[in-house]
Amino acid sequence: MTDVLIIGGGPAGLTAGIYLCRARIKAMLLEQQTVGGQAMLSPLIENYPGFPDGIEGATLMERMKEQAEKFGLEILSFQGVEQLLIEGDKKIAVSGAKSFEARSAIITAGRSPKKLGIPGETEFTGRGVSYCATCDAPFFRDREIIVVGGGDAAIEESLHLASFASKVTVVHRRSELRASEYLEERARANPKIEFLFNSELVELRGEKTLSSAVILNNLTGEKQELPVSGVFLYVGNVPNTGFLPAEVDLDENGYVKTNDRLETTAPGVFAAGDVRSGSRKQVICAAAEGAQAAMNAQGYLESTGARKPYEGGSN
Ligand code: NAP
Repeated sequence: MTDVLIIGGGPAGLTAGIYLCRARIKAMLLEQQTVGGQAMLSPLIENYPGFPDGIEGATLMERMKEQAEKFGLEILSFQGVEQLLIEGDKKIAVSGAKSFEARSAIITAGRSPKKLGIPGETEFTGRGVSYCATCDAPFFRDREIIVVGGGDAAIEESLHLASFASKVTVVHRRSELRASEYLEERARANPKIEFLFNSELVELRGEKTLSSAVILNNLTGEKQELPVSGVFLYVGNVPNTGFLPAEVDLDENGYVKTNDRLETTAPGVFAAGDVRSGSRKQVICAAAEGAQAAMNAQGYLESTGARKPYEGGSN
């Protein structure tokens, strides 16, 4: 039995691990892939304090991992949790044939990219359709591509893709973007980026690989077929909460509800970062919430007598 199980290895989970292990609390982090989370996919993070020139997402996450391991966090990669069970005071994470027990748990499982669910999307994933510009942009050097979505992710990734592709067409279902003004201004100033507003991607076509995209103008009802070799989808995300028990309440969109101490409705179970209802979906916010959840988990362990209260000194 460990003290705290951390489920999910993005910025929230790794920061929780740093705080717990530095306070000499036994913590184990379970991650379904390799640690880093969605921040790993960001080509450049410009708003994380301390890096005036920005920092590549993968580099930032590698440093967080190093720091957590330095303090003794046990990280198990490719250990996806299929079920979290609560039996009395015990929290049990079931992962394949294994199960891991703890006195407390912090849910930091983040979100996954949302699918559009249109014909051709599944068929051409990895053969023209991508959800990760950082991973796949180099395959589209001097090619024409489409980015779907009007949020920060779509515009930020369009800027990154424009340094590879010959042309990037942003297809957005409304007449205005949701993205921050700063990103919009940069995208509008980029001669390689064009916008198709009031437009929806409705079908992807091709033989072995993607060759065209059918776009519907939702004002006129007209359809056009654009020749493209790549389509990047940034239409939002879904929370990774399918493994949680009924004791942990979710909001109407499936995100974990917490109070301002980041406690869920199950005693001893906390949530932090993108998976949490109301979280701001920023790396800095996820990291801060991870720290907060760790300190509150420490308080919970002390309240149950599983650990002596902190008695001063450097912590
Ligand atoms: P988002 O803000 O939810 O934007 C999703 C976009 O996809 C919206 O423009 C939405 O259109 C569109 N969309 C959703 N469903 C669609 C559908 N079925 N068909 C067509 N379009 C659809 O998601 P995000 O861009 O991934 O950002 C998520 C969060 O992360 C945000 O809070 C964002 O600020 C944050 N983030 C921040 C940064 C940064 O600070 N640099 C970078 C990336 C992400 P509508 O606008 O019409 O709803």
